[in-house]
Amino acid sequence: MSKVTPMIQQYIDIKKEYKDCLLFFRVGDFYEMFFEDAVIGAKALEIALTSRDGEKAIPLAGIPYHALDTYLVRLIKKGFKVAICEQVEDPKEAKGIVKREVVKVITPGTVTDDNLLSSKDNNYICAISTFSTKFGFSLLDNSTGEFSFTEGKYDLNQIISLLVKYNPSEIIVFDDNGFMDKLETLSPNTSIHSIDYEAIEKFNNLFQCYVSYTAGIKAVQLLLSYVISTQKSHLSHLNQLDFFSLEQFMSLDYSTIRNLEITTTIKENKKQGSLLWVLDKTQSPMGGRKLKQWLLNPLLKVEDIDNRLNTVEMLHNDLYYTKKLSNLIGSVYDLERIATKISYNSVNPKDLVALKTSLSVLPDIKQMLLKSNFQPLVNIANKLLELDDLVEIIEQGIVENPPTQVKDGNIIKKGFDEQLDKLKYTAENGREWLAKYEHEQRELTGVKSLKVGFNKVFGYYIEVTRSNSHLVPENYQRKQTLANAERYITEELKEYEDIILGASEQIMELEYKLFCEVRNSALVKIPEIQTNSEVIAELDCLSTFALVASDNGYCKPVVDTNDTIEINAGRHPVIEQMIATENFISNDTIMNCSDNNILVITGPNMAGKSTYMRQVALITLMAQVGSFVPAANAKIGVVDRIFTRVGASDDLSSGQSTFMVEMNELANILNNATPKSLIILDEVGRGTSTFDGMSIAQGAIEYIYNPEKLGAKTLFATHYHQLTSLEALYPGIKNYSIAVKEEKDQITFLHSIIPGGSDKSYGIQVAKLAGVPNTVIRRAKEILTSLEEGYTGHSEVALAKEPEDLFTPVLENYSDIIEEIKDADVNNMTPMEALMFVNSLKKKV
Ligand code: ADP
Repeated sequence: MSKVTPMIQQYIDIKKEYKDCLLFFRVGDFYEMFFEDAVIGAKALEIALTSRDGEKAIPLAGIPYHALDTYLVRLIKKGFKVAICEQVEDPKEAKGIVKREVVKVITPGTVTDDNLLSSKDNNYICAISTFSTKFGFSLLDNSTGEFSFTEGKYDLNQIISLLVKYNPSEIIVFDDNGFMDKLETLSPNTSIHSIDYEAIEKFNNLFQCYVSYTAGIKAVQLLLSYVISTQKSHLSHLNQLDFFSLEQFMSLDYSTIRNLEITTTIKENKKQGSLLWVLDKTQSPMGGRKLKQWLLNPLLKVEDIDNRLNTVEMLHNDLYYTKKLSNLIGSVYDLERIATKISYNSVNPKDLVALKTSLSVLPDIKQMLLKSNFQPLVNIANKLLELDDLVEIIEQGIVENPPTQVKDGNIIKKGFDEQLDKLKYTAENGREWLAKYEHEQRELTGVKSLKVGFNKVFGYYIEVTRSNSHLVPENYQRKQTLANAERYITEELKEYEDIILGASEQIMELEYKLFCEVRNSALVKIPEIQTNSEVIAELDCLSTFALVASDNGYCKPVVDTNDTIEINAGRHPVIEQMIATENFISNDTIMNCSDNNILVITGPNMAGKSTYMRQVALITLMAQVGSFVPAANAKIGVVDRIFTRVGASDDLSSGQSTFMVEMNELANILNNATPKSLIILDEVGRGTSTFDGMSIAQGAIEYIYNPEKLGAKTLFATHYHQLTSLEALYPGIKNYSIAVKEEKDQITFLHSIIPGGSDKSYGIQVAKLAGVPNTVIRRAKEILTSLEEGYTGHSEVALAKEPEDLFTPVLENYSDIIEEIKDADVNNMTPMEALMFVNSLKKKV
């Protein structure tokens, strides 16, 4: 390459350190991208790609500095990382080329900017490491400071389940185990990083008490190293590290989270239509995030579950109280994210007022909780930390409705700082003086349109229209000539200009300084703010459970360690919302590990088998989350895992056949379920020939049934009616079907589950309902009858003689009727006549 300018050389040197980022290189009022970055950036941002004068070979694309945020949003949403390189010395004082440094790297998993975050979702970054036979997993929401880790026996499925659960925007790996290859397909934002022991030293106290978790801590250190290297700030919001045990929560694998549509729907990947959508009536952003976490982490210990359920019950018993509490919670802003912004020095005056408003609601909430005299609520109250001093400082310091800019003044209240008040008085006086001066000059010159104005180049001036310029007195000095007017200054005006401008400048500087002081008082309270946020989030979830339970008619489940699931009049929490509760047919369930171990459910398509099975799983999950459930009564014996294998799931990326995916899922279930698990199997073995499929299904049922092998509670929907014969062989297997009313050719789905298997699949009737042409239906019936009479598989036995036979006889037999229908004047018939007409047709058929 030919020789480049020193600045480009500086760019090249810095870029070497940030190969995986787009480098935004500050040059004056612009952030410039050069070389390949310019090409990529220009395309991603749809901005012009040019080149520098004199360096035509070097591609260049730039954005104005003040528009940085807007462009960053676009790049981060597209998954880019952006390194912001600033001029770190005043160009006027620079000897030679101005010094530049990367001050922050913005990445999808570490952003803290409100524009890039959804208030009700966490934005996680995670790190994965291995150590001997274990894996470590650490998780951080940099926007809230939530930081936790776990470890377990190395198991890729387990790792993938964690990733699905937390859906991180970025994954950091320590590439000692070929993770990159395995995980890159899951998240495009996977990168390798190493541990910088020196950099993380100041965080050692975070994990001191966890040293025995070698693999987990390695993941924590890895994550910290990465965050420090990108954020380049104090990270004062990282105050607490929590360990979560993989055994602490119900384990939900990828397919279960998706199939049960816990947080998003399968089809559209949207919240609407999911369980979260039904339950999330939280009032605060942190409550919303917490609720989502709870749903993905149902509890296992009866005591913990009861703690939540009892509190929900108390709140449910006093809805007036709960609504009031919930309203108060609604006036608390996103404390967690404000705390983070304080830590990053990116908090603005508006945020501080929001902080004040939020903190000043806390004493009221605390009082309400204490007054309840209900111990669990009193315990919650005692966790709330009042921060009166901080509220006081913000109250005294910051005006009620401040701007979001920190350096343009108008932030600090009168009376907070004497010097500031003096300066403001001067400036204010100056302005008054100007008004007076304008008035005097008008009188003096007799020019009514004379005005005193200001612009950045010339400062204050007196403007007189050209037609009046002969009236100006001698002491006016001409400064600027416009098309229709002349602008002048005077000695007096100059003097006041100095005072006003001097004061304004000082005011802004001082206001900023005072704002920083107020901000610093908040900085030292970050841990307390975070604790309060956590408490409010929890309270928000509990009161939401109570209010939703009341709105939707849920009951408090009894949760214990028995192996029984007993639900009276259970409903599907989401479907009942979609079709109105009164139209939803409730159903009972009884399952245990002895005489109702496996329920084999038959019934036509669309009867409600999937709905029923998912309803049992969702009720169990809700109970273990600590929520009331859609049922008249429910007794839930804690399950350790819920497994689902539902329908022909579309495995979008792996390129495996549907059948292979199905078998993979089945294998995963059979290998990982325990006697304490709940398994939902919807039509196993469909993707292959009937006999193959049926054999696999029966094999699986027998394996699950066998207490020595598995003995897990299972709901098994199937079209293979032959499987209903298993009931007679194994006492724990019970047949159920979904009731269908059959009248002549018509079927109506009753959606209620009844004991006993169904011996028909009503496939042809369903096809008819769906609008398959009558001719096909008729022919299908013929074939079915011949099959049922012992069809041997030779097609000629069952097939109609000639293909045209399918249609001609039909048309011939009914030609009269068709003519009659054609002739009928439907528009002029009364309903009665129409009815009689149909009846007459019917008689002829
Ligand atoms: P299957 O799995 O038997 O094919 P689904 O469970 O998918 O049937 O149910 C089909 C539709 O029937 C559902 O989308 C819902 O609208 C309705 N449905 C299912 N169960 C009920 C019920 N218990 N009460 C009212 N409608 C129901």
